[in-house]
Amino acid sequence: MRISSERAGAGAREDGLAARAAGVRERVARAAAVSGRDAAAITVVAVSKTVSAEVVRAAHALGFTVFGENRVQEAQAKIAELGREGLRWELIGHLQSNKAARAVELFDRVQSVDSVRLAGVLDAQAAAKRETPLPVLLEVNVAGEESKTGLAPDDLIEAARAVVALPHLRAEGLMTVAPLVERPDDARPVFRRLRELRDALRAAVPVGADGGWDTLSMGMSDDFEVAVEEGATVVRIGRALFGERPRPQ
Ligand SMILES: *Cc1c(COP(=O)(O)O)cnc(C)c1O
Repeated sequence: MRISSERAGAGAREDGLAARAAGVRERVARAAAVSGRDAAAITVVAVSKTVSAEVVRAAHALGFTVFGENRVQEAQAKIAELGREGLRWELIGHLQSNKAARAVELFDRVQSVDSVRLAGVLDAQAAAKRETPLPVLLEVNVAGEESKTGLAPDDLIEAARAVVALPHLRAEGLMTVAPLVERPDDARPVFRRLRELRDALRAAVPVGADGGWDTLSMGMSDDFEVAVEEGATVVRIGRALFGERPRPQ
């Protein structure tokens, strides 16, 4: 007998969720303790791309409230099913301009603002479709990888100036995806650099009385402990929580 691999996959990903969730929380707490930080100051975004609404519901029941999605359409289907009562949805993947209109309605925050042009499109859409400014993070391609989107570190201050001038966006900080490395510690310079860029922005493009740009979204399943040690306030965790993702078809 053959059972649908999708069903088998969903079941497998829900099994063990509680244990993986406890493991992630323990590792965040330990990394925070090692660096003298308060674990409560670190938000785990549960990266639910490819994960069914049913499994997201199970994660919510375990206390996760912020979910990260990288595709507008997939997120839209899940939000339609699960709603936003007690849940926050954040976009973490590259956004095409033609999906910006839907994105500003669906997401509580867009972490992946990777160009001034996209920021302008989001601002115009937010003006039309939202009552409050759209919270955003600027995505930085710290290591200058060809395969990745994100602002170049050298362009960041100028881009930040342009973004803070947009009245319908609220710039809250920076996000990065570190390169794939053999050992998690090899990603440390990238995380440290993002923190330094944030500190530079606070001085050069201050937002509010204390400079703003507080959010540092960095660290994923393989490297989040190092990111926490380097000051992450948001870690984005998929596989360590939900298990391996199915391979793309
Ligand atoms: C998929 C994804 C993650 C989560 O990756 P894991 O390795 O599964 O933890 C985090 N951030 C972004 C931008 C992603 O696309």
